[in-house]
Amino acid sequence: MKVKKGDVVHILSGKDRGKQGRVIQADSKARRVTVENLNLVKRHTRPKPLRDASRMGGTQMSAGGVIERAAPLPISTVMVVCPTCGRPTRVGMLVKQVKDEQRKVRVCKRADCGEEIDR
Ligand SMILES: [Zn+2]
Repeated sequence: MKVKKGDVVHILSGKDRGKQGRVIQADSKARRVTVENLNLVKRHTRPKPLRDASRMGGTQMSAGGVIERAAPLPISTVMVVCPTCGRPTRVGMLVKQVKDEQRKVRVCKRADCGEEIDR
């Protein structure tokens, strides 16, 4: 996947279009990423007894109500923001020789930048 956990991404569509945030979860199978504090959805939750709380004397309850959670976005609706030039960019792959090892690094596809994204 071209987007990894910890990357800063630019959102291309949806209500948070144009905003940027840090990826907190990347699901390569579903090809979706979750971005911190973006694409929030309201979840209505009911107060529930917490597991293993009964031995602590008395049952503890989780707070119910409406909470906002970041929902996963399809990978095609985000672009990686290059840490060098600070702009959203397409990501290229480059095979680099590091000591005796070949490593794939992600690079910025901007013609005037071309810097590595992975440090
Ligand atoms: Zn760049």
